[in-house]
Amino acid sequence: MKFFIVHAHPEANSFNGALTRYAKEVLHTIGHEVIISDLYAMQFNPVSDRRNFISYKQQNYYNQQTEEMYATEVDGFAPDIKAEMEKLDWCDVLIFQFPLWWFGLPAILKGWVDKVFAMGRTYGGGRFYDNGVFKGKKAMLSLTTGGPLTMYTEIGVNGDIHTILYPINHGIFHFVGFDVLPPFIVWSASRIKDERRQAYLEEYKQRLLMVNATPAIVYPSLKDFDQDFQLKQ
Ligand SMILES: Cc1cc2nc3c(=O)[nH]c(=O)nc-3n(C[C@H](O)[C@H](O)[C@H](O)COP(=O)(O)OP(=O)(O)OC[C@H]3O[C@@H](n4cnc5c(N)ncnc54)[C@H](O)[C@@H]3O)c2cc1C
Repeated sequence: MKFFIVHAHPEANSFNGALTRYAKEVLHTIGHEVIISDLYAMQFNPVSDRRNFISYKQQNYYNQQTEEMYATEVDGFAPDIKAEMEKLDWCDVLIFQFPLWWFGLPAILKGWVDKVFAMGRTYGGGRFYDNGVFKGKKAMLSLTTGGPLTMYTEIGVNGDIHTILYPINHGIFHFVGFDVLPPFIVWSASRIKDERRQAYLEEYKQRLLMVNATPAIVYPSLKDFDQDFQLKQ
């Protein structure tokens, strides 16, 4: 299988760095192919503007989705974005590796999504959710937190982690058609003992080995909604 890991951490020796390096080693050992986009190492520019494109539909007014649809028609995406799109097309499994920052993705990774998940190329014209472009592929979040699990339950002070991750799992991955696997979460990565971090690496290995046997998160199907996209009674 082909794994594409989008890695977003500014420190190579962080625990996020260790998780990505270990994932590559484990997956290679069992014969899978792995591509990593290490966004900080690549100095990926997360800011979306005209530089996303090499040709323009409208010269005097910038509408990103208009330009994305035009760029899809005329092969007009900037080379750095086109390269990331080709990795998405190539992979069977997409993994985002990141530290939870302000209950969400680090800006460099959110900016990567804003640029790479472009209208026309990754969604649009009725291609979304279970009709999505990436139907048949899997996606998974692998993240670390500062806070412990107990802060992220339904009765925890931060609220349920699955609710916090819903905008990414459902609003990004599932929106473009991926089957979304449950997240792999290292709780309190900086505060735990080294032995616990070693154990987390082994747990991550098991999750990676079980990718094909892990049931995806169940979301309602488009056919469960009426013409106004409201759940049918
Ligand atoms: C802007 C910002 C916003 C944040 N928002 C939130 C938030 O909303 N919610 C929240 O819970 N937290 C939040 N945090 C905290 C953040 O999520 C954690 O600091 C981060 O997840 C810890 O992971 P890390 O990889 O950066 O850990 P690091 O501190 O880099 O690593 C932890 C330890 O692991 C060690 N290590 C490295 N490699 C290995 C290895 N191979 N084996 C064993 N140990 C190893 C490192 O030496 C280090 O001691 C935020 C932090 C920032 C900066």
